[in-house]
Amino acid sequence: MKNLWSEKGARAAVESHAGQGVSADIALRVYSARLLGGDPKLVLHGGGNASVKTPAKCVTGEAVPALFVKGSGHDMGRIEAAGFAAVRLEPLLKLAKLDKLDDRDMNNARACHLLDSHSPDPSVEFLLHAFLPHKYCDHTHSDAVLAVTNQADGGKLAHEVYKGRAGVVPYMKPGFGLAKKALEVYEGNPGVEALVLIKHGIFTFADSAKEAYGRMIDMVSLAEKRLTQGRKKVF
Ligand code: ZN
Repeated sequence: MKNLWSEKGARAAVESHAGQGVSADIALRVYSARLLGGDPKLVLHGGGNASVKTPAKCVTGEAVPALFVKGSGHDMGRIEAAGFAAVRLEPLLKLAKLDKLDDRDMNNARACHLLDSHSPDPSVEFLLHAFLPHKYCDHTHSDAVLAVTNQADGGKLAHEVYKGRAGVVPYMKPGFGLAKKALEVYEGNPGVEALVLIKHGIFTFADSAKEAYGRMIDMVSLAEKRLTQGRKKVF
C-alpha cells in the first residue's frame, strides 16, 4: 500500500482549519481520516473510524480532556471536523475499571458524556478508542487484514504476519467487552504498533497522526505481502 501522507497537504489542512478556529490536532485528524477513507481497500467493508484525544473548550472557557471520535454515518473519505463527536474522556476511562457494562449503559455513557448535544453519535467503537492511551487511533476494516484473519487459523496467521509488532484480539462483537479485551491485549505488550481484531479489522495508534497513519499502511502492507506469498504456497 502506498503511504499518501504529504507534508504540504497536512500543512494546508492545519492552515485551512485554523481559519475556522479548529485546532491543529483536529485538522490533522481530519486530514489522515480522509486519507484512510479515500482508499476502498481499507474501508470497503463498513467504514472504519478514527479518533484523537485533545482538550475541548467548554462554553465557560475551561479546557476538558476529550476524545474526538468519528460520528456514526459519516463517510471517512469526506469527513469534516464537525463529523467528529467530542466526548469527555475522564468518565470513559473510569468505565475501563468495570468488569461488565451492558449495551444500554454503554449507550447511555455515549450520549451523556457528549460535550455538544448537537454533535453526531460517536461510533459504537468509541470505548476502544478511549481505552487505548495513544493520542491518535486509526481503525479500518482492511480487505487484506480480513483475508488473513477470516481463515480458520486466522489468529496463528496474524501472529506469523506481524511477529510481535501487533497484538491479536480474538473475535468479539463491538462493544464494552471488545474494548476491554483489546485493552488487555495491548497492556500485555504495550510496545505493539497495532491491534489486529480477528474477523473484524485493525487498529493502529501513535502520538502523531502521521505515525498512526504510517503504521496502518505498514501493517496492511504486511498482510498484503502475506496474501501474495499465500497464493503461491499456503492457501
Ligand atoms: Zn470496526
